[in-house]
Amino acid sequence: MKFAVVDPQNGARLVTGLAERVGTREASASVRFVGTDGQFGQAAALELGDDTGHRGVLAVALAAVQEWAREHAVELVATGHRVVHGGEAFSASVVLDEEAMDAVRECIPLAPLHNPANIAGVEAARAVLPDVPHVAVFDTAFHQTMPAQAYRYAVPAEWARDYGVRRYGFHGTSHRYVSARAARELGRYGDPGLRLVTAHLGNGCSLAAVKGGRSLDTSMGLTPLEGLVMGTRSGDLDPGVLGYIHDRTGADISAITADLNKRSGLLGLSGISNDMRTLDEAAEAGDERAQLAIEVFTYRLAKYIAALMVPLQGLDALVFTGGIGENSTTVRSATLGHLRYLGLEVDPAANQRCIRGEGGIITRDPDSTRAPVAIVVPTDEELVIARDAAALTR
Ligand code: ADP
Repeated sequence: MKFAVVDPQNGARLVTGLAERVGTREASASVRFVGTDGQFGQAAALELGDDTGHRGVLAVALAAVQEWAREHAVELVATGHRVVHGGEAFSASVVLDEEAMDAVRECIPLAPLHNPANIAGVEAARAVLPDVPHVAVFDTAFHQTMPAQAYRYAVPAEWARDYGVRRYGFHGTSHRYVSARAARELGRYGDPGLRLVTAHLGNGCSLAAVKGGRSLDTSMGLTPLEGLVMGTRSGDLDPGVLGYIHDRTGADISAITADLNKRSGLLGLSGISNDMRTLDEAAEAGDERAQLAIEVFTYRLAKYIAALMVPLQGLDALVFTGGIGENSTTVRSATLGHLRYLGLEVDPAANQRCIRGEGGIITRDPDSTRAPVAIVVPTDEELVIARDAAALTR
């Protein structure tokens, strides 16, 4: 669980905090505060109580934040919460009144692991900060502009009608932020014809086709398992694999699904790690399993980027973001290597210079008016959450 106090006007972080192993006996939480000199102090461990679940940890963390705010005369004006699944009910961020909370609860079957934790977080925050508005920012909302041809699955109609089986997409907050930021950096913010493919490559990985600021298609589906190869998730595979593995091993659906979520992807392919840094180093040192994992990852990624030429009917820029997209020069150059026919040609020096998301365009001929470019942009989901919360509060 991550939390921060953000000045919505300039995006400055005043407090940042992190809790790990929430819900277990080993739960821990730490927080860093900006001092009067404007610099962050050392991370301080928070003393957790008996409740080490989302509710208990957030209550302790928010109490510390409140005390800091009082001492520094900082007014907490709103709380923004990341909520994973908004189903078809939410196409934008929303102030969480009782009606909206009920709608978030109705989305629990679509995200049984995430939405209950998100709801617990909202309830804990409301208990500590009852007088400020609480706003939900949904991972799915940005993709609600997808047309039916992109979001429908070719499955029995009642699955869609009765159970909401369709593609929703995720990472919407990140795709929304980096598409707007890339448009600005390209000098084309507000241009309704601007065609971007945004590649959010972190532990989870997804693509979006964004035209004029609207999502037309994305690689994730009903759940965040569909699409690209990820750290531990398989991405696309033949749905027939489930029945086949069940027949061969006797494993039930939930065990197979857990394997596809937790033991697949880069980890499954390499047998070494789900962490791209480790794989980059191992591949460099000649490890063939790490090389294969990166090849499958980048080939699938490039194939999917090319598929998004259909909704966009062309490309102006490919945008890399997320821990891998912002940092892995190998992943970026191998992916672009597959996409030369689109007119993308990596500039090795620019690619090397571009780390931690700063550096801009990494392809040759950035001045050409016709050729698409690849650009690296650091994502900032916390800032979007803070800005939405502030905007809906005014
Ligand atoms: P999350 O999706 O959980 O927010 P991140 O966006 O932080 O995760 O991405 C995590 C991924 O980014 C990991 O695979 C990590 O190895 C990778 N990563 C971070 N830094 C680097 C780096 N310098 N080189 C290669 N990969 C990196």
